[in-house]
Amino acid sequence: MTIPSDASSFAELNDYISRLFQYRDSSLLLTINESFSKFYLDILLKNNWKLYFGDIENYEGLTDSNKKIITIKRNLDPYSRDKAICHELIHAQRGENLDDLNRGIQGLRNNAIVEWNARRIRASPTLLSLIWKTFDIPPRIYDRASLLATKELVKPQLLFPSLERDYNFTLMD
Ligand SMILES: [Zn+2]
Repeated sequence: MTIPSDASSFAELNDYISRLFQYRDSSLLLTINESFSKFYLDILLKNNWKLYFGDIENYEGLTDSNKKIITIKRNLDPYSRDKAICHELIHAQRGENLDDLNRGIQGLRNNAIVEWNARRIRASPTLLSLIWKTFDIPPRIYDRASLLATKELVKPQLLFPSLERDYNFTLMD
């Protein structure tokens, strides 16, 4: 069966992952079920992981688990940017490196699992806003999840309604 890439649709990824489940043992299930939560973000932060935007070719994001650096390609559209960030954060959490795609079938399969998880994290307003906050990423609205994520960001400021208005205005600018 064809292994989906980072550019595949979620439907393709989901189809692949669900078919993979039917044939694989429980160790893979465990990998897939790892929850990506505040807990992991805290660990990455405490371990001094840094996230930068830079000029990179061929990839939308790179993870260097030895140097603890994630690099995201500059000037991606907001959805691709957030998707790439989520993808690389999962590689980081798993201690993986940018060469994961070069490890044959196993590498490609692993990357599809990472991407499948990344899509689900990206679609979670709570996790997306947490990631923006944690790594100081400028919020952008481009779909329902990102809209709700900006609302989660400004939650503590609801005591000051004018702030929220100004903030949304800035975001839509
Ligand atoms: Zn990857």
